[in-house]
Amino acid sequence: MIIPNMISLEVTTKCNGGCVMCPQSIMERRNEDMSLSDAHDIVCEAYQYGIRRLSPHGYGESTKWLYYAPFIGWVKTTFPDMKITDTTNGSMLHHDYIRDAICENVDELIVSIDGVFESTNVAIRPGINYEKVILGLGLLRTRDKRPKVILHRIRMPENRHESDELYRECWKPYADSIVFADASDLHGLNPEIKKPIRTPGRCKRPFNSVWVNVRGDVILCCRDQFSSVIYGNTHEAPLKKILEGPRRKAHQAIHETGRTEVMGLCKDCTYTG
Ligand code: SF4
Repeated sequence: MIIPNMISLEVTTKCNGGCVMCPQSIMERRNEDMSLSDAHDIVCEAYQYGIRRLSPHGYGESTKWLYYAPFIGWVKTTFPDMKITDTTNGSMLHHDYIRDAICENVDELIVSIDGVFESTNVAIRPGINYEKVILGLGLLRTRDKRPKVILHRIRMPENRHESDELYRECWKPYADSIVFADASDLHGLNPEIKKPIRTPGRCKRPFNSVWVNVRGDVILCCRDQFSSVIYGNTHEAPLKKILEGPRRKAHQAIHETGRTEVMGLCKDCTYTG
């Protein structure tokens, strides 16, 4: 059995943004929190299984989770060799207690900002206060100990008037690295974005990562926003048993042989990692 190198834990589906590309508003599991004890149990099981990277992130803003700071502190104290990578909309970074917890415990922080001008950002991610995002990012830069900060931009119709070069120039003082991704619209939320077509072939995700949603369901991957492929639930079975169960093995076999066109989600997916 291949030991996955990362577990993503959807600790909350609460979010202060209303991003135009996000299916959160039409998801059934909205405004839900994982309990702290469930999050602890899952991380313990993942660690025992050999997983050494955690992303406390799903379809929600992890820093809005009530237990965010104590949780990531507990992870690093209990399992110092567990790397933490988190993804955030940056809206909470101006709060000292969130920034302290991140600087102390997070190894890599991906901050999602899609535009250069405020109007562009607000058009894509309404609900986020960009003055506060910039304040928080600036305060992060003043810390000696802080995570690697990666700014992540999704290229989409709403920001196509701003070039990558302009974006780089604007945001480089705040970032250790900048990455770009093209929008994909698996669920048809934005008619201007073409539905992606994946070249059939093997994807690494069913092997090297584990995704657990806010309800404890172990699902295919982050692209499975509606949790349509569930391998088991962590309240009902040990994580190891779920990961080594027949359905996940069958999906791995499909990917191993490059027959992903037989899986609905994978057939329509552009991810090629
Ligand atoms: S092909 Fe896409 S949907 Fe399928 S496992 Fe990979 S990332 Fe997930």
